[in-house]
Amino acid sequence: MLTAKLHSGEVVSLAETMNKNYLESLRRKEVFYCQTCGDELILKLGEKRIYHFAHRKNSKCLPEYERESDYHLSGKLKLHEWIKSQGLEVKLEHYYPEIKQRADLAFTYGQHQYCIEFQCAPISEEVFRKRTKGYQKLAIEPLWILGGKNIQRRHSHKTSLTSFHYLFLKENKLQQIYLPAFCPQTNQYIQLDNLLTLSTRNAFCHFSLTPLMELRIDDFLAPNISKLPPISDWLRERQHFKIKLLGKRSKETTNFLTELYSSALNPYYLPPFVGIPLKYSLAIETPSFIWQGLIFLKHFHGCEQGKRIYFHEIYTTVLLEIQKGKIKRRSLPSIKRNILPFAIEEYLELLAFNGVLKKVKKHHFIINKSMKMANNMEEWMQEDRFFYTEFYKST
Ligand SMILES: [Zn+2]
Repeated sequence: MLTAKLHSGEVVSLAETMNKNYLESLRRKEVFYCQTCGDELILKLGEKRIYHFAHRKNSKCLPEYERESDYHLSGKLKLHEWIKSQGLEVKLEHYYPEIKQRADLAFTYGQHQYCIEFQCAPISEEVFRKRTKGYQKLAIEPLWILGGKNIQRRHSHKTSLTSFHYLFLKENKLQQIYLPAFCPQTNQYIQLDNLLTLSTRNAFCHFSLTPLMELRIDDFLAPNISKLPPISDWLRERQHFKIKLLGKRSKETTNFLTELYSSALNPYYLPPFVGIPLKYSLAIETPSFIWQGLIFLKHFHGCEQGKRIYFHEIYTTVLLEIQKGKIKRRSLPSIKRNILPFAIEEYLELLAFNGVLKKVKKHHFIINKSMKMANNMEEWMQEDRFFYTEFYKST
């Protein structure tokens, strides 16, 4: 921790001073107490770590908050300094006794109360939801910021994300989805946006890096996302992904292949519109190639031109497959609306845009041309080339 209470009730904050001589003399004459539990604290002024207060061994004080890393401590200090630089009053390590939670930072802006949780170590979804709810009960908006060291950048537009990362995904007012992160080692505020999920773990996205001190509080609270999704990167890698995915022996791939083979379908000859990335495909943890393949199998395969396709029928199929465990939804606790139906809607709209379907009216389509599978590789490649030339134009 970076704060402690003195006998007089006054609070010492290490954000105010890190002067060793001063702190040593303070340590000689004062006793420090934890603001949360009231226990005595030790002021650690060692050479290896950031100066901080620590409980004695076996303390029962908020166990999930203990053992803060230097990365976390320095992040808190830098975020504290940044919010102050925005002309706002900010409290470090503010404790809310009603909910027994200690926020890293708390501040008021306009009419709203906010707190920042700078989360560096993985926590469970349950803890994440519980803490979020606690703040909301007090009408405080929690702003979760992911510790930047958790972000793996594979190359310019590619990243690998686990369910822990997805906890932080949120929406701005324009319902654009992004992930806020901060790295105290590089002093960069990192925003991942325009996510296109490829597989359960991999996604393409835009990384925007801003030196923390150049970030304005308004851009942090309501970011403006204007870049286009990294479609071209995805196009370049999509075949590779398909081959890799089909070679995997995961339960969902095996289930999917069994269904295809029982209908005598070759997965490599599935039409090119099976497996396209969508803005909302992150609502589904199962790779797009599988869930869109299941839709193809159950609603499109072998159908003649003119067959009616209704959004609610497709959506019902997806919900059923989720129930059966063949499609897995992704848990997104920081996104307030249910975006699953938007993924299905987006998919059907895109198919209509590319001439696979024809739109009659909202949520009502017809099949535009007979759904036949390619007979050989050459035919398939021709179809694929044609589809993606059009697809590319539409994005
Ligand atoms: Zn304590």
